[in-house]
Amino acid sequence: MTREQLYNYLEHEEIECSDIQLDLLFTLMDSTLKQNEKFNLTAITDKGQFVEKMIYDSAVMLHDLDLSRKSIIDIGTGAGFPGMVVRILAPKAEVTLLDSTKKKIDYLLDFAKQNNLEVTGVSKRAEDYARNNREQYDYAVARAVASLNILLEIIMPLVKVGGTFIAMKGPEYVEEVNACKNAFKKLHCHIEHVYEIELPESKQKRAIVYIQKDEVANKKYPRQYNEIKKQPL
Ligand code: SAM
Repeated sequence: MTREQLYNYLEHEEIECSDIQLDLLFTLMDSTLKQNEKFNLTAITDKGQFVEKMIYDSAVMLHDLDLSRKSIIDIGTGAGFPGMVVRILAPKAEVTLLDSTKKKIDYLLDFAKQNNLEVTGVSKRAEDYARNNREQYDYAVARAVASLNILLEIIMPLVKVGGTFIAMKGPEYVEEVNACKNAFKKLHCHIEHVYEIELPESKQKRAIVYIQKDEVANKKYPRQYNEIKKQPL
């Protein structure tokens, strides 16, 4: 996917992107690929594929979403996907990037500083951070981090009542959702809608699952990670 194609595909999804924002997205790609030589950030090293599978794929959650003056936390952001892409394309959002790996957060804070992008970085395990930052965020997002039943317990406590967790999933999302009936009940949340897309070139299928929080989460959640993993809700 070229720069012009990216612009056109974003426009088709009604996602605004100026020349400056396009420049920043390509700076992010170059920086990620350069850092990749130092530590493993992505398996996708072909630039055309990177634009489609990392940048466009991260951006498409912004379809029909106004993040102006809203807070959003990207859980397990890795090299900043989707969080840094959101930072670039939604400049009025308050963006927090969280990852358990400190060197990734250090790199992202450095990238943000060099490019005058305002972000908050947290290098902690999400479940530990969630215990002390309950009901803080309008939105949370996670891409390629864990299965939905695990993510729900870790992430829903962080989201405000009425806020939304955006789970970025593949075509297997239906089975994942079916395994979450109990978790939805225990964590007082429901699927608001699902946006299904196909990546324009590779034709890979994606599902963006918008999960709304209805009530305050019980203080016993999230449990310790080994318990969550051993016995998901
Ligand atoms: N979201 C990025 C993407 O789509 O390219 C990175 C995906 S990578 C496969 C998963 C990331 O989640 C890793 O950077 C890992 O350190 C982080 N991670 C996994 N479990 C986590 C947890 N419980 N708390 C914080 N970070 C976590």
